[in-house]
Amino acid sequence: MTLFDLSGRFAIVTGANTGIGRAIAVGLARAGADIVGVGRSPMGETEADVTACGQKFIAVTADLSAPGIGDKVIAEALDAGASLDILVNNAGIIRRADALEFTEADWDAVLDTNLKSVFFLCQAFAKAAIAAGRPAKIINIASLLSFQGGIRVPSYTAAKSGLAGLTKLLANEWAARGVNVNAIAPGYVETNNTVALRADAERNADILKRIPAGRWARPDDMVGAAVFLAAPASDYVHGTILPVDGGWLAR
Ligand code: NAD
Repeated sequence: MTLFDLSGRFAIVTGANTGIGRAIAVGLARAGADIVGVGRSPMGETEADVTACGQKFIAVTADLSAPGIGDKVIAEALDAGASLDILVNNAGIIRRADALEFTEADWDAVLDTNLKSVFFLCQAFAKAAIAAGRPAKIINIASLLSFQGGIRVPSYTAAKSGLAGLTKLLANEWAARGVNVNAIAPGYVETNNTVALRADAERNADILKRIPAGRWARPDDMVGAAVFLAAPASDYVHGTILPVDGGWLAR
């Protein structure tokens, strides 16, 4: 096996129908992985791209904000014939409002999807992988708001900052048990998640002039880091939050 070869491995990718999740699912398939796409919406386009790479695609339909969903997703993936090698916790939502007006519903929705479901998916995945004696890789999709405060996104910042801490905690507990836990912190990426920001001419210009690379990221810009953290090349990398941000955090 070479450093970046994922042949013979399955990658479970949540939120695989659009944006960063779709790009990562297809990128891991190009590196040789079979894919389990987990999502609440149809993932037909991702499936077509993955199978065009010659890899298997298994769809698991799940609303990740539902209680008890971690165990169910992992059980369904196993029943469908997947092995537990790579888990990419990508699914996420964002709610924008001033902190003074922010509602409890917007707090709970974001924390449930972006943090609680990630923990319980990691737990169910690692429990089964460790019991099976399989080396495994977990990649959490964090954010610049794992490092910074942001504005008008209190539940998102809380969830993504919490996710950075959780990534390190899980790495501490599982590094010696054959499970690597790391995160990618994307910069500003052109996806559904950022439509509102890009539509605001003033915010868009402010963001753009702060990015050293001089452009927003495209979902494909996340693939290299994902392949690295999924592959044998990162076997001694634990608990890191890797920014892929066009240099934003260096400013
Ligand atoms: P996106 O809206 O295109 O993708 C989000 C995905 O999550 C979709 O597939 C959606 O169906 C899925 N999802 C959301 N809630 C779900 C639920 N309850 N159950 C199942 N699936 C659910 O946006 P994106 O930008 O590709 O976001 C992917 C990840 O990247 C998110 O975690 C987001 O916070 C993170 N991120 C995005 C940016 C950016 O600039 N776009 C920056 C940093 C981090």
